[in-house]
Amino acid sequence: VSLFKDATVAVFGLGGSGLATCAALKAGGARVMAWDDNPASVAKAEAAGYETADLNTLDWTGLAAFVLTPGVPLTHPAPHWTVGKAALAGVAIIGDIELFCRERDAHAPAAGFVAITGTNGKSTTTALISHILAKSGHDAQMGGNIGTAILSLEPPGTGRTHVIECSSFQIDLTPSIDPSVGICLNVTPDHLDRHGTLDGYAAVKERLIAGVPADGTAVIGIDDKHCQAMADRAERAGRRVVRLSIRNPVSDGLCLDGADIVRIKAGAAVFRFSIAGVGSLRGSHNAQNAMAAYAACEALGLSPEAIVAAMRSFPGLAHRLEQVGRIGKVLFVNDSKATNADSTEKALAAFSRIYWIAGGKPKEGGITPLARYFPRIAKTYLIGAAAEEFAATLGSSPHVIAGTLDQAVAMAAADAAADGAPDPVVLLSPACASYDQFPNFEIRGKAFRDLVLALPGLEPIGP
Ligand code: ADP
Repeated sequence: VSLFKDATVAVFGLGGSGLATCAALKAGGARVMAWDDNPASVAKAEAAGYETADLNTLDWTGLAAFVLTPGVPLTHPAPHWTVGKAALAGVAIIGDIELFCRERDAHAPAAGFVAITGTNGKSTTTALISHILAKSGHDAQMGGNIGTAILSLEPPGTGRTHVIECSSFQIDLTPSIDPSVGICLNVTPDHLDRHGTLDGYAAVKERLIAGVPADGTAVIGIDDKHCQAMADRAERAGRRVVRLSIRNPVSDGLCLDGADIVRIKAGAAVFRFSIAGVGSLRGSHNAQNAMAAYAACEALGLSPEAIVAAMRSFPGLAHRLEQVGRIGKVLFVNDSKATNADSTEKALAAFSRIYWIAGGKPKEGGITPLARYFPRIAKTYLIGAAAEEFAATLGSSPHVIAGTLDQAVAMAAADAAADGAPDPVVLLSPACASYDQFPNFEIRGKAFRDLVLALPGLEPIGP
């Protein structure tokens, strides 16, 4: 990011995206003052060679910008002290996506930029679009609120498309947001603790749509009233709007006709497809995500056939009901992200003959709320600290204490292979935190994936 060459920029919040921000600014010739409330993060930034300064005592005059981590909301009635001070000093308060947008505007305004927001479905839609683009031979750079920090991706450039998931907090910090394709999937009550009212929260999301330029495309799910109004306003403002609905017909956009998804233009169906057989896109909420991905990829110039063909091989989000592969009829699914019973419930509800790997560091309530799914479970393989407690809850439902993940995978794979049922599933959905055996759920999920991929006869699913 060369826009702040020779200027001083303060960076608050030194997690992954904060450090990536420091690196990008420094590489572009800026002087960076880094800070975090957590002394360990400050020490880490110092070790990485960044200048640190307590922003509480900093003289804000002369600072070119204040880059804030998205965890600190601007619309909160009592702003964080640093935000207040920066604001008083007239310093622009921005986030890392703003730095990306300014860089793109200055150096590669024609580079593709898809920005995705909404209360639910952001990650799925972001990953799906990125997958379709990659499968079609495009250089897709995926990140933002999912996976990689935006400034750790390749910079904006011709022939490259950034597919960026944006939380409301990130939109708050991105006044120049101007995606070539802007997507708002839905607005439902969530995160209101941070944004005050639903109207305020919807207004933040609408800024992503309002930023879409005249030659861009706004893709909006119109199944809630905020998004409906948002679509109408975008259209009145002269934007090209593609409406999505899983409830009602649309005259320009995508909707359902029975089990089919239909692309409608000027009232006429021009293309239809089905995601019925795509395991990673089960459920009507995923129809909305698939519609959004279709609309985005169409706007980027992909053919309907190419979009749908690529959609079929979508493996799902990593660690969330991620289909890793098959051995014969046995499917292996990584749902390591399920760190509580609520999330695991979705996984157990999705399959009917389950070899279930569960356990780790248990949460309050354990797996008791899941008892009604026990009849779907062929056998449970318990790992980690929760094993004894979960064994007691399982009672007469078949189970074994496997101890470690590698033992569990080996046992479950062998048992599932011997099963005569039509579609047995080996499912890692721990209903537990990972900390007793793994640093985090990603590393636990990767360990599972690696173990599965090493099984003899495994056919991988995915890119
Ligand atoms: P986000 O990134 O917005 O949190 P995800 O794609 O990670 O969304 O999905 C999180 C959960 O939200 C999913 O497990 C699913 O239950 C639900 N969900 C996904 N897509 C939608 C959607 N379009 N509408 C409503 N709920 C959804």
